[in-house]
Amino acid sequence: MIPAAFTYYRPRTVPDALSLLGAHSEEARAIAGGHSLIPMMKLRLATPDHLVDLGAIAALKGIRAEGGAWVLGATTTQAELIAHAGLARALPILRETALQIADPQVRARGTVGGNVVNGDPGNDMPAVMLCLDAALEVAGRGGARTIRAREFYRGAFITALAAGEIVTAIRIPAPPAKAGAAYVKLKRKTGDYATAAAAAMLSLEGGRIATCAIALTNVAPTALLAEAAAAGLIGAAPGAAAFAAAAAAAEAITDPAADGHGPVDYRRRMAGVMVRRALAAAAERAGG
Ligand SMILES: Cc1cc2nc3c(=O)[nH]c(=O)nc-3n(C[C@H](O)[C@H](O)[C@H](O)COP(=O)(O)OP(=O)(O)OC[C@H]3O[C@@H](n4cnc5c(N)ncnc54)[C@H](O)[C@@H]3O)c2cc1C
Repeated sequence: MIPAAFTYYRPRTVPDALSLLGAHSEEARAIAGGHSLIPMMKLRLATPDHLVDLGAIAALKGIRAEGGAWVLGATTTQAELIAHAGLARALPILRETALQIADPQVRARGTVGGNVVNGDPGNDMPAVMLCLDAALEVAGRGGARTIRAREFYRGAFITALAAGEIVTAIRIPAPPAKAGAAYVKLKRKTGDYATAAAAAMLSLEGGRIATCAIALTNVAPTALLAEAAAAGLIGAAPGAAAFAAAAAAAEAITDPAADGHGPVDYRRRMAGVMVRRALAAAAERAGG
């Protein structure tokens, strides 16, 4: 279907974008890569009267290391993220995740900010941002604020972002020493959204797990932080028994829909399998 008519704007600064979004309030939407919003508009599930394109705003672009953290400009494309050698060395889980999103055509346009902000439980980056404890830098006409990814997701397509606000960047803290991380995704075919996927990061001290975070994709209305599953691993020796217990704890918090990806029980079980595999890969990368 063809989208409903809209007025298109291409501001060059964040204040100009915020003015446009504020002036048209509920009738306006930001657009970045357009690879989630345009399909929604074609289906008439979104019918914004005003589209504010963030693509010409230089301040929203780029990847940089800053004070021990990595800062990703909101309109960094998945392809730009994949190509960044420094980021791939420091936080290889980001590249690993981006490579599992859709296909090269979508990754050439789709942005990290759009993927994180969209609020679709099928998007892959939100679970990774929960796992890495990322913070979203937000600008609005009332000023700037920071929202932890762990406090951002409220429901399917419902986030803590207020009308008229945009995410300008995503700040990811440096991982703990001796940490390894992995993102493992089950999909029916290349380019598909996850049947279930898991992000895991853990660090080791003296052969035991010292820190751990686990998050899940597409097995609930939002990405999920599996806090009890991760807490149960602290002090444990990495291995199949510990990871099976964590997988069971993670499965217990899932609430998947029965849809084309499979029935509820299958998707819940696959979430556990993804957790076990992600933990095993993370432990190996951490040197365990
Ligand atoms: C065929 C296909 C397959 C796909 N497969 C996957 C997949 O496997 N995994 C996956 O994760 N994604 C997948 N996607 C989605 C794709 O990754 C999108 O590009 C991404 O979800 C949204 O990024 P975008 O830049 O395109 O955002 P847009 O579509 O431009 O925007 C999405 C939403 O976020 C808002 N928004 C965007 N940027 C900002 C910002 N900076 N501040 C505030 N609001 C903002 C918009 O207003 C809109 O509501 C797929 C898409 C297609 C077309």
